[in-house]
Amino acid sequence: MQDMDILIIGAGVAGLTCAGLLSRHGLHPQIVEREPQQQFNCTGYMLGLYPLGGRVLNALDARTAYYNQSIQMEYYEAHRSNGALIKSYPLDFINEKYGSYRSITRQKLIDILLANVTPEAVRFDTTVANLEQGNDEVRVTFSEGRSERFDLVIIADGLHSETRDFILDDNEYSYYHTGWGGWVSWLHGNPTTSYKEYWGAGSFLGIYPVKDKVGVFLGGPIDIIKEKGLASFADEVKQMVSPEHELPRQALEACRKDERPFFWDFHDCRTKTWHKGHVVLLGDAATGFLPTAGVGASMAMDSAAALADELSRAHKQHLPYALNLYTQRQKQRVETAQADSRKLAKMIFMKSPVLSKIRNRLLPFYSLQQILSDLSNVMEGRS
Ligand SMILES: Cc1cc2nc3c(=O)[nH]c(=O)nc-3n(C[C@H](O)[C@H](O)[C@H](O)COP(=O)(O)OP(=O)(O)OC[C@H]3O[C@@H](n4cnc5c(N)ncnc54)[C@H](O)[C@@H]3O)c2cc1C
Repeated sequence: MQDMDILIIGAGVAGLTCAGLLSRHGLHPQIVEREPQQQFNCTGYMLGLYPLGGRVLNALDARTAYYNQSIQMEYYEAHRSNGALIKSYPLDFINEKYGSYRSITRQKLIDILLANVTPEAVRFDTTVANLEQGNDEVRVTFSEGRSERFDLVIIADGLHSETRDFILDDNEYSYYHTGWGGWVSWLHGNPTTSYKEYWGAGSFLGIYPVKDKVGVFLGGPIDIIKEKGLASFADEVKQMVSPEHELPRQALEACRKDERPFFWDFHDCRTKTWHKGHVVLLGDAATGFLPTAGVGASMAMDSAAALADELSRAHKQHLPYALNLYTQRQKQRVETAQADSRKLAKMIFMKSPVLSKIRNRLLPFYSLQQILSDLSNVMEGRS
């Protein structure tokens, strides 16, 4: 294996997955992470991982750790805002055919991925102040002022990537805004193995269990819910839920009482190109995801595996060719999965009571494979 000096910007899901896989090929990238070490991996939320992402952990020999820290999901349930079930979709077609569809906290997943890189590989509290491409090299100036040359820079600093601007012009990427957003909170104890969503007109409640607690999402049109504030919006949504549906009522109560809930503005991002010269985009920095379909982390891991694979066979003199192959393999595949999350967002984020009633009536006639048709194609390798 040849030597290649690689820098990864961002110690998130994509960056750490890629670093772990590259180290299995004898390549040991440096990673810079903006967060200081004491604050790193403190923001927790729940992640549903399709086998598309989960299977990458097999290649890191991390299956046991992953299974110990996560639970297999058995059902996805859509409910009316009053709590009544519209339809329950078994996830067995995923679990049996493609691999276990599991739920884990982001913190636990990051811990598992971190175990695959040496502690000295990650430099915390550091970012990139400048990046210049030369002949077959990239000269990087770090935030503390030091400069270093690399054969390759992998930009994996997430949906709001700042370092993307070093290689892309403003017209080479765009954000897609849904106008909706929401708070993420936790309900302790009593996890189930079903994802439960409550689709209202102008409101959305999601209940996503992980191993020992339950992640809660409460969302709606941003302008309205921000004006109302979390407590009064949670009360309003709770009033719609019939008393016999205890779980959503408890979830809303937990959300209401949370003093430091995480607010998520539901938008995603697409870029026109994933690489220029010796710099490449990975994960959300390349194509970011809406929460619907819950597939951003899985696609980030799937792409990290494809990039590590192409790099394992590349010679540093022909890196742009390897990056081109990676882009050919992944860009359309990832955008196809993203299309499903946009389609689902249009279906879920509805303000009109009439339209949401029609949606709720029609939903039982559709299978999950039909609703997630693009993602099914991605899982089948058809895109
Ligand atoms: C509340 C919430 C729920 C979600 N639920 C799901 C789900 O159920 N299933 C799913 O598949 N996906 C889900 N996602 C999406 C998923 O988290 C992302 O798609 C995934 O984390 C993308 O990985 P990434 O490595 O590209 O970005 P991130 O995981 O966001 O990592 C980016 C890293 O880069 C660092 N960074 C940022 N800027 C800089 C900089 N300038 N310099 C250095 N470092 C920097 C950040 O601190 C971070 O560590 C969810 C996201 C959120 C916010």
